[in-house]
Amino acid sequence: MSQDNQKTINDTIKLSGVGLHNGIKANLTVKTASENFGIKFCRTDLDKENLIEANYQNVVEPILCTKIKNNNGTTVSTVEHLMAAFYGEGIDNALVEIDASEVPILDGSASEFVEAIRSVGIKEQKKSRKFIKTLKKVEIQEGKKYISIEPLENDLIVDFEIIYSNPLIRTRRKEFKLSDGDLTNIYNSRTFCLYEDIDFIKSQGLAKGGSLENAIVVKGSKILNEDGLRNRHEFVYHKILDCLGDLMLSGYRMFGHVKTSQGGHSLTNKLLKKFFSDKSNWSLENGNIAKKNNQVEESSKKTLSASI
Ligand SMILES: [Zn+2]
Repeated sequence: MSQDNQKTINDTIKLSGVGLHNGIKANLTVKTASENFGIKFCRTDLDKENLIEANYQNVVEPILCTKIKNNNGTTVSTVEHLMAAFYGEGIDNALVEIDASEVPILDGSASEFVEAIRSVGIKEQKKSRKFIKTLKKVEIQEGKKYISIEPLENDLIVDFEIIYSNPLIRTRRKEFKLSDGDLTNIYNSRTFCLYEDIDFIKSQGLAKGGSLENAIVVKGSKILNEDGLRNRHEFVYHKILDCLGDLMLSGYRMFGHVKTSQGGHSLTNKLLKKFFSDKSNWSLENGNIAKKNNQVEESSKKTLSASI
């Protein structure tokens, strides 16, 4: 089997849990989908106009999560961690059924989505996979916030900087390279917030399902979660996870070098809108992720088949 074909999941996945923002329990079922289907969400609690394509053009109010909406006003929120799991695991086609308006937050990271995908395995399909190739640099500056994407051959780099006045989070910058292959720390990194922001966030009607079970809470130089951080760079790695999920809303994997300082859902979405608005910025091509990733994928396939 060659690396550059489209992929779907081998079998149905079921997960359930509360939404971070609406606090409502949702049942999520991810199903195998045919070639060129892409990723689509279906609200099974509604009986019509319930299909929403996971596309950057459908993103609305990307404030503390990524929410998508179809032409009839049907929405699904907090799709980004599941989308990042699809990105990292190489899933191109899947139907995500959900019986509420927000994807379960689970433990605040993508690890349970990834585990579920790996537990059923991946099915390679016959049609080739296409990639978005960046042809020209596109950037957005919004006050102190910045994001850009530049051409890069057969790979994706996300260079992310966060700047917080909080003494524990501070300024951190990390780079993720898709061809390096190991996404473990990125998958495991949880969403986070400052203790002093919780009242304001809740006053906006958000984070109703938030708890120390699904988010890191930082108060001054202390982490309120009993077990502390999962890795030294958990804050910035979570931002990279969000960014991967949001980039997956391009409908394809992108080849390019993304640099961002103080970026987030809104800025990534604005970049995608600007990038795709001019056809001279990009092309859609057959391709392969740079070689190192093939080797990692082959070895992880072996580990997986050995463990079955
Ligand atoms: Zn997130």
